[in-house]
Amino acid sequence: MAPDTGPPDAALGLTALEEQVRRDLGFLSYPFKPWLPERTVGGPYDVVIVGAGQAGISIAAGLKRDKVDNILVIDRASYGQEGPWVTFARMLTLRSPKYLTGPDWGVPSLTVRAWYEAQHGRAAWDAMEKIPNRMWQDYLLWLRRVLALPVENDCRLDEIAPDSDGFRLTVSRTGGTAEIAARKVVLCTGIEGAGRWHVPDRIRDALPKDRYDHASAPDIDFARFKGRRLAVLGAGASAFDQAATALEAGAASVHLFTRRHDLHKVQPYKHLEKAGFLRGFAALPDLWRWRFMDHILTLREPAPKETVERTARHPGFRLVTGAPWENLTLKEDGIRIGTPKGTFTADHVICGTGFVIDLSLRPELQILHPHIATWADRFPPPAGEENGMLAAYPYLGPGFEFQEREEGVMPCLRNLHLFTFGATLSQGFSGGGMNGLKFALPRLIDGIVCGLYGAEVERHYRELLDYRVEEFSMDSIEVV
Ligand SMILES: Cc1cc2nc3c(=O)[nH]c(=O)nc-3n(C[C@H](O)[C@H](O)[C@H](O)COP(=O)(O)OP(=O)(O)OC[C@H]3O[C@@H](n4cnc5c(N)ncnc54)[C@H](O)[C@@H]3O)c2cc1C
Repeated sequence: MAPDTGPPDAALGLTALEEQVRRDLGFLSYPFKPWLPERTVGGPYDVVIVGAGQAGISIAAGLKRDKVDNILVIDRASYGQEGPWVTFARMLTLRSPKYLTGPDWGVPSLTVRAWYEAQHGRAAWDAMEKIPNRMWQDYLLWLRRVLALPVENDCRLDEIAPDSDGFRLTVSRTGGTAEIAARKVVLCTGIEGAGRWHVPDRIRDALPKDRYDHASAPDIDFARFKGRRLAVLGAGASAFDQAATALEAGAASVHLFTRRHDLHKVQPYKHLEKAGFLRGFAALPDLWRWRFMDHILTLREPAPKETVERTARHPGFRLVTGAPWENLTLKEDGIRIGTPKGTFTADHVICGTGFVIDLSLRPELQILHPHIATWADRFPPPAGEENGMLAAYPYLGPGFEFQEREEGVMPCLRNLHLFTFGATLSQGFSGGGMNGLKFALPRLIDGIVCGLYGAEVERHYRELLDYRVEEFSMDSIEVV
């Protein structure tokens, strides 16, 4: 191994890396031939990808590798504000280990490690525990640039309607609404993209909006909590991140409440980071997919060690277990929170209560969601294994495509693909996370490409029959 000569010149390093990327992609660009017609002006895109986060960027990169170039990626966020990483993610680093891959499509020069080492050197990579959020965002923006992906920011999808070409997307852009035609659509609108971030009704009903926030709110002003008493509901990673951020901002106290009698400490995802599960889960029979996810999604993910330590080191931090909120009242001197462990008083509440899966809550799916099959429609769990939360998950096909609740009523759904956490029960770790990207992305691209090719099979067959390019001429052959 070459001795590490210390941090390289970052710009030089990146320029050299980008040259390497061009070479690698050139080496890997077979098959070269385009197979889809050029886009006609105003004509439909072959694929519109909604969301330019890690999933959207990776999907666009994967489609381009298969010469699906007539694509558009849209994102309602402005440039550089896509996803949670520099908006509402309040951990200091990613929660996942730095060695996860996926958006690189197996090209070493496209990996986050290559990008990092090109700028900071091998020793710095070895020394880095986990990737800071900002850095992960910068890596995704680099991928987007070096792969020249067609992304339009400040473009929000408001509605998807069936159309002769496939779909008519109504979007809001700077300067007004517009319509985009697409043959296929991929929804990678975030971890909560098959539902909505969840604020318990009890809190919504009892408190005015300026006395509570959800952990996914990008504009929480933590300086407000200096010297104040904060209550955080939930004990997942995001709940702890809010608590730590508030304590670092000078909050006098933070009580973090969980219904559980003990803090959940086992991370099932770590056990499952194996090729067998990550590639094989999606092909399991319904019963086994149900059983695995019933266990995993009921157990939930604990906060990472560093997050718990970051929070617990503050003297003002208190964990309140076995404390579901039974009543909530706003008094002169604060918010009264009644629990089996007694009554607590806080000045503000932050909900670390995650999201719910419910397609009817998606504005863009108001026309289509009544026709989308969920697990409740397709899988009757054995007695004793019922799980209402799981039953709401969409029942997706092998290419992450939605299925019709009633055959023949909304056939266009086969051209609408979901790549958010909502895909987890059908497809395993995939959308809404990093650890499954490496295995899930190829299945999605297979589904999209097979769909596009199959939809024009007559044309492809005709082109085959019309193909007349001769391999050699008879001119130089003496024929008797
Ligand atoms: C705080 C936090 C920390 C996390 N940390 C980790 C971690 O460390 N490791 C891990 O594996 N996973 C983590 N996750 C889970 C997951 O990896 C992230 O949620 C990740 O952002 C998912 O990537 P994505 O591309 O699917 O969604 P996002 O990155 O959320 O991107 C979705 C994009 O869609 C856009 N969008 C949404 N709706 C519309 C619309 N109607 N029109 C146009 N654009 C739209 C949004 O603006 C957003 O930019 C974390 C999640 C959160 C919330």
